[in-house]
Amino acid sequence: MTSNQTALVLFSGGQDSATCLAWALDRFERVETIGFDYRQRHRAELDARVKFREGLGERFPKWAAKLGEDRVLDLSVLGQISDSALTRDVEISATVSGLPNTFVPGRNIVFLTFAAAVAYRRGLKHVVTGVCETDFSGYPDCRDDTIKALQVALNLGMESRFVLETPLMWIDKAQTWSLAARLGGTALVDLIKDRTVTCYEGDILTSHEWGRGCGVCPACALRARGFQAFKETPASARATE
Ligand code: ZN
Repeated sequence: MTSNQTALVLFSGGQDSATCLAWALDRFERVETIGFDYRQRHRAELDARVKFREGLGERFPKWAAKLGEDRVLDLSVLGQISDSALTRDVEISATVSGLPNTFVPGRNIVFLTFAAAVAYRRGLKHVVTGVCETDFSGYPDCRDDTIKALQVALNLGMESRFVLETPLMWIDKAQTWSLAARLGGTALVDLIKDRTVTCYEGDILTSHEWGRGCGVCPACALRARGFQAFKETPASARATE
């Protein structure tokens, strides 16, 4: 029996999926999390997952009661098939195809397929992912059409009725901060700043107004820009977004 009130969140330890986790806890009665170890260049994100979940438990008792199991699947095989800056120590730059070489071909398709398989076993209906078409690097497997097509394929292939939820699909980074503020106020914004890692360099020691990171890489630049725009958005405007 799959309850409509259950969700599995793909939680990487970054800002976007942390916001998605809060979104799911606000909406559903039982929420589990899943992460993937694909031999990322930096372990910081995987460590951040644990610390962020602990922080949620300490600071948000009503969410802690709903937060169920966490699991990390070993997908190191992705490292074997990917020639990417995230899995190899190469410089992050645009490739000939125009896609940034942080692109790991098929990664989100693989992640969502494994997540759906776990959701099937665990009886979880909603599969939540922080993919976004709006202001990221144009990864084709983050696009709305890819996710919708995958939902159809997974439901056909598993004879199921999963819903692939993408709360961030059409919002930008400033609006992602606003969403966090709406869901959990300053306490959640601060927790995301302090305990999530999006930096490509895996820098968790350097602190900024917008959180931790090298401050130079494209992911840090995007996060900093988004936070600045969020700060400049009047609270009244945030409430109606
Ligand atoms: Zn960085």
